[in-house]
Amino acid sequence: MNALAPKVSFVSLGCPKALVDSERIITQLRAQGYELTKKHDGADVVIVNTCGFLDSAKAESLDAIGQAMAENGKVIVTGCMGAEPEQIRDRFPNILAITGPQAYESVVSAVHAAAPPAHDPFLDLVPDHGVKLTPRHYAYLKISEGCSNRCSFCIIPKLRGDLVSRPAGDVLREAEKLVKAGVKEILVISQDTSAYGVDVRYQPSLWQDREVRTRFFDLARELGDLGAWIRLHYVYPYPHVDEVIPLMAEGKILPYLDIPFQHASPNVLKAMRRPAHQEKTLDRIRKWREICPDLAIRSTFIVGFPGETEEDVDFLMDWLKEAKLDRVGCFRYEPVKGAPANELGAPVPPEAKDARWHRFMKTQQEVSAKLLKAKVGKRLPVIIDESGSTVAKGRSRYDAPEIDGNVYVASRRPLRAGDIVTVKIERADAYDLHGIAV
Ligand code: SF4
Repeated sequence: MNALAPKVSFVSLGCPKALVDSERIITQLRAQGYELTKKHDGADVVIVNTCGFLDSAKAESLDAIGQAMAENGKVIVTGCMGAEPEQIRDRFPNILAITGPQAYESVVSAVHAAAPPAHDPFLDLVPDHGVKLTPRHYAYLKISEGCSNRCSFCIIPKLRGDLVSRPAGDVLREAEKLVKAGVKEILVISQDTSAYGVDVRYQPSLWQDREVRTRFFDLARELGDLGAWIRLHYVYPYPHVDEVIPLMAEGKILPYLDIPFQHASPNVLKAMRRPAHQEKTLDRIRKWREICPDLAIRSTFIVGFPGETEEDVDFLMDWLKEAKLDRVGCFRYEPVKGAPANELGAPVPPEAKDARWHRFMKTQQEVSAKLLKAKVGKRLPVIIDESGSTVAKGRSRYDAPEIDGNVYVASRRPLRAGDIVTVKIERADAYDLHGIAV
């Protein structure tokens, strides 16, 4: 560590999109000679990248700011909560600066004001692919900012603005750099991945010696040629999503779709104003599986949305049993300040929300357990996330890091993070698989 370099302590809260913002800020600061430190105490400045999506996330963000103020006192706040600075100033009047999400330049300027950069000749040591907060072998690739949908429970478009897609050439160059730097798995993220390029009318941009359209399918196809695992997150079931399924069947991209359905009942989906809510989703899923039988679908749902009836919940349970989704998360609805859903009335009482949540989890657990059991006896490629003396922890192509399950791999030879090995699956429990490297 350079003794002269100013030190920055960084707290990154929230979703993978916020993590990418954190990576960009850190990359810029590292390029200017700042050092990162894990402790607030002794840092020249602390940056807290906040999440403001739910009240519970806001509380966590305020706690993190409080801790940074107590341990250091020189604190810069950024991220989603920065869009509502009064809440933060009311509690912490001595904060150095507050900036909104994606305001990288303002964060960096605030850091310069608090702790000017030291002249540092080691600039060139910053890796070409930037500084990543994820382990070396996988990386998030953010393809757009903002969202042009208007889901009634969500304030993200208010905080982050409408969809702005990055040109396909830029995204592909970033992906290529990541692969060259040793990344084995790329997780494509945005607020609405299937809408990629709509804002720029699919304008082509230069990639290698040709033009590639800024379009969901074209990007997936080109990413599929880079030689890494490509995983698609936050996709909505629009008809054009059908086009990428053959890429999955051919093994170009992972047979995995993360689709935040949030509900199945048409009444609730309409009240939620969800994108693609009029699509016949079960038919679409059936068709996808005909083309790519091992397609894994992960999703999230909300129960207890205002106006949700017992009939809506019955509909959702039947839908779940039929859809047979591989991995599912479920949240009890929480009102978000400033969201139109608050005006909908007919709130679901907390006891009913709880009961619906338990019913949902029980139904889905039975579905997931059967699907996992069906993998016993198969040989699956597994990417190792953590080495271990006798058992390493990894994931199959059907599981994303952090949110899905793991594969515990027994092996006689040492396995390192980033290795991709074939594993014979020997047993399944409620969430994970266990097997042996072959
Ligand atoms: S798709 Fe809906 S929930 Fe997702 S960010 Fe956009 S408005 Fe919010």
